[in-house]
Amino acid sequence: MNRRDFIKQIGMVTLGGAVAPLVWPRAAEAAWQAGSGAALRIRETHLRFRSLENRDATDVIILHHIGNTNADVSAATVHQWHLANGWAGIGYHYVIRKNGTIERGRPRDTVGAHCYGENWHSVGVNLVGNFETAWPTDAQVDAAERLVARLCMMYGLRPGEDTIKGHRDFNATACPGQHLYDLLPDVIAGVQERYGI
Ligand SMILES: [Zn+2]
Repeated sequence: MNRRDFIKQIGMVTLGGAVAPLVWPRAAEAAWQAGSGAALRIRETHLRFRSLENRDATDVIILHHIGNTNADVSAATVHQWHLANGWAGIGYHYVIRKNGTIERGRPRDTVGAHCYGENWHSVGVNLVGNFETAWPTDAQVDAAERLVARLCMMYGLRPGEDTIKGHRDFNATACPGQHLYDLLPDVIAGVQERYGI
């Protein structure tokens, strides 16, 4: 079922036994966060971009790895790499460090530069590392689940195979690396659990 059909079919979704609007108002999101016991912390990076475009559709979250290094690189470092490519700045919206710290990349509601042909309707999340050879840390996977669950709530997405993808699902690339890609079903299940479905 695509997102449009899904929205048509159910305007409401059951969350933790209570019926809540599919698109959460900010107050509801704040209440949920307060009650969840683990508020999601985003480390602000205050990066400067050349130019950015607002994104007016969001129906999928796309996971990436760094790939060419397994180093614990920061959003600021990736920002410099992507500026050097001639881009507006870092192409991902979030970078998850080895210790689970979530750093802000491109502002959340802007068009990213992380998945050819899909940037207009997606959020890009990068777990740093090379997951062809190494494995993501437990802290990274945990942070990814918490972040993606929150993004699903914010954008009114039902977490599942249609809404949480790996880069290789769209483009000819090894990204997000075989080891993270193998974990994707577990990540989706973890997001669903946090989301309450
Ligand atoms: Zn990628």
